[in-house]
Amino acid sequence: YSTAAALEDPIKPPVTVEYDKLLINGRFVDAASGKTFKTLDPRTGEVIAHVAEGDAEDINRAVAAAREAFDVGPWPKMTAYERSKIMFRFADLVEKHNDEIAALESWDNGKPYEQSANIEIPKVVRIFRYYAGWADKIHGLTIPADGPHHVQTLHEPIGVAGQIVPWNFPLLLFAWKVGPALACGNTIVLKTAEQTPLSALLVSKLFHEAGLPPGVLNVVSGFGPTVGAALCSHMNVDKVAFTGSTETGKVIVELAAKSNLKPVTLELGGKSPFIVCEDADVDKAVELAHSALFFNQGQCCCAGSRTYVHEKVYDEFVEKAKARAMKRTVGDPFKSGTEQGPQIDAVQFKKILRYIRSGTESGANLEAGGDKLGTKGYYIQPTVFSNVKDDMLIAKEEIFGPVQSILKFKDLDEVIRRANNTQYGLAAGVFTQNLDTANTLMRALRAGTVWINCYDVFDAAIPFGGYKMSGNGREKGEYGLKNYLQVKAIVTTLKNPAWL
Ligand code: ADP
Repeated sequence: YSTAAALEDPIKPPVTVEYDKLLINGRFVDAASGKTFKTLDPRTGEVIAHVAEGDAEDINRAVAAAREAFDVGPWPKMTAYERSKIMFRFADLVEKHNDEIAALESWDNGKPYEQSANIEIPKVVRIFRYYAGWADKIHGLTIPADGPHHVQTLHEPIGVAGQIVPWNFPLLLFAWKVGPALACGNTIVLKTAEQTPLSALLVSKLFHEAGLPPGVLNVVSGFGPTVGAALCSHMNVDKVAFTGSTETGKVIVELAAKSNLKPVTLELGGKSPFIVCEDADVDKAVELAHSALFFNQGQCCCAGSRTYVHEKVYDEFVEKAKARAMKRTVGDPFKSGTEQGPQIDAVQFKKILRYIRSGTESGANLEAGGDKLGTKGYYIQPTVFSNVKDDMLIAKEEIFGPVQSILKFKDLDEVIRRANNTQYGLAAGVFTQNLDTANTLMRALRAGTVWINCYDVFDAAIPFGGYKMSGNGREKGEYGLKNYLQVKAIVTTLKNPAWL
């Protein structure tokens, strides 16, 4: 791994924090309570900024603004082309400020700056352009019915959308939620994660520069049980979209049900299998399985966290996976070439170390890593376990860290059964050159995405979401629009039934 010295002396991020308040009705304002909370630099645990801490009162203010912007307008009453143009202009501004936004994202989250600047912020731009393109292409149907009726459907926005995002991809998931909601004509109150409040505030400022009317997008920072719960319980919020843990997802649904039965879409946890078949080119499989797990410090809901390897190639795979993990460059996210930065915070850091201990104690072979790295911040060594069994905690629960678990299998039926034997169903990876094997696995695996000879392909047009306890609804693509539309049936009686 890279030297600890780099970790002790972090590079100064090339950006300052300009926006640290709540964004309500187009203005940056203090929390009603006047309270703030600290957002920390995961490289050191030091304070980056004190951010206005919202509460139920602020949610009331934000929802009132969003309600007004929806009911009175102008947002849903503008032409779709006008909305589309504002979204395109916003995408241009994000593109123009790419490096500044990427630096803020990496500072707050700890992810490598090169990853933010070259992958994530460009993807944010792409998502907004994709949905800007949809805005004027959303329409209903004309439907033949029995009787003398003319029947059509209108696809209308739902209203005020409450959106709650997590800390692992703060701005990318902002884009997945805000893009389709705005394209459909909804207004929004969005809650960022308490670990990563900064980037959404910066880009929301740019959105207003692009011409977004006040009240259409409101951003309230703060904690889950206060701000998040108030948003989910609010009687004037028409829909909630949430990305986060399965545990919190259950709470969200309950709050929505107990208030006004608002529909909820959920994108939750996973324990996704990555299946390496006997015909695999082992070097390529190792590299893909490595990035499927270690990407973003292992903090991905769809991480390929159960690496199933056919017995014929198992020994070679384990040796090479170990060597690859040991070569992984861990260090300051602002240093060029860094593949892995620190974990998000002390809570996750300790949780991951507990899982690593549990792996060793339950009899898995520790091949690489197994401990923290350096003395400052939340760095963890890329860790690989082999000889992992399905009933071990590290094979069952979501670790959300840089810990690869390798399991051995003998035949296809067995690996299908084992891969599906989980409460989750977010994604799966298949590595094979055999067409029949690929065809069998793509249909047999119970997961919202099956990546074949690839992983983590997140095109704006491809729907993403979970089976089972990994959630419901799909984000991105045309499917992602459904979460933000009502269907209204219009039935008109025909005066002259002869013209049915
Ligand atoms: P994690 O454990 O990875 O932080 P969570 O599911 O707890 O994942 O957090 C994801 C998002 O959900 C964050 O924005 C968080 O503040 C929010 N959240 C947490 N608890 C609640 C809750 N009870 N009601 C609404 N939102 C919540």
